Amino acid sequence: MSTATQEYTRVAVVTGASRGIGKGIALRLAADGLDVVVADLADQKDSLSAVAEEIRGLGRKALTVSCDVSKEDEVQAMVDATVSELGRLDVMVANAGIGVGGSVMDADIEAWEKCWAVNIKGVLFCYKHAARQMVKQGDGGRIIGASSICGQKGYAGIGAYCISKAAVRSLTQTTALELREHNITVNAYAPGVIDTAISASTVSGLTSFYKFLVANPLDEEHGAGYHIKQLLKIPEGVRTGQPSDVANVVSFLVSSKSHFVTGQTLCVDDGVHFT
Ligand code: NAP
Repeated sequence: MSTATQEYTRVAVVTGASRGIGKGIALRLAADGLDVVVADLADQKDSLSAVAEEIRGLGRKALTVSCDVSKEDEVQAMVDATVSELGRLDVMVANAGIGVGGSVMDADIEAWEKCWAVNIKGVLFCYKHAARQMVKQGDGGRIIGASSICGQKGYAGIGAYCISKAAVRSLTQTTALELREHNITVNAYAPGVIDTAISASTVSGLTSFYKFLVANPLDEEHGAGYHIKQLLKIPEGVRTGQPSDVANVVSFLVSSKSHFVTGQTLCVDDGVHFT
């Protein structure tokens, strides 16, 4: 990101932005004054359009793009559409990710590879094509990926996901070193338990292994966050976060104040992991 007087509005791309953490980040960046491209799978078109309307309501430009991040040509097309419609690309938030449960002994390789295709390859493609565009522009930039507390250490019954989020941490370090000379910082956020649909889908994925939910069915009172904490043995007293808790950290990483922070994976987890 250029430190000289900036004469353009910065443009951010957020993947997986139709709901949850991605939506929270997209709205926060719009409130911070950026124009925002919101991307998600084609079947999320309606909710994505609603997020774009909210961004316009904040006085910023918005563009919706259908993009499966596990397909490199679609990620390239998303970056191309960003530049042709909004003029440039300054911030990439590679947020899209999926949760997969299951033990090592019962590993279903197809499910594990699907998780890695979205969570590892998807982030790699976003980093790669955003970096190429930012280097071409010559004004620096911000690249940010979605890791997790599950990338900080292994958790039983959720190995495929832990591997994918540890890979994001490693990829973030490598990319940060490679892009330092271009004034592009590369960081990741590592949420703890945040109340979103992914928490619920991960809980469902884990039931086949733990049979946990048979004894502790999901209920309105506790929500998915409560059950995830039981399954992952998160210490009592740790709170469940909201998408805005992650968006606040991303807002800082995108700002000029974070220029001396790169290659880091920041835990946003109410103190589950200390790094
Ligand atoms: P979410 O509510 O499930 O939202 C994720 C969005 O990404 C969904 O709209 C989903 O669409 C989309 N998506 C799935 N596969 C995609 C693909 N191949 N290409 C593009 N978009 C795709 O998830 P979230 O809880 O907000 O999580 C956001 C990120 O934070 C993820 O990377 C997640 O791993 C990470 N994270 C979340 C938590 C948590 O507790 N929630 C904790 C740690 C890390 P569909 O619904 O159609 O699949």
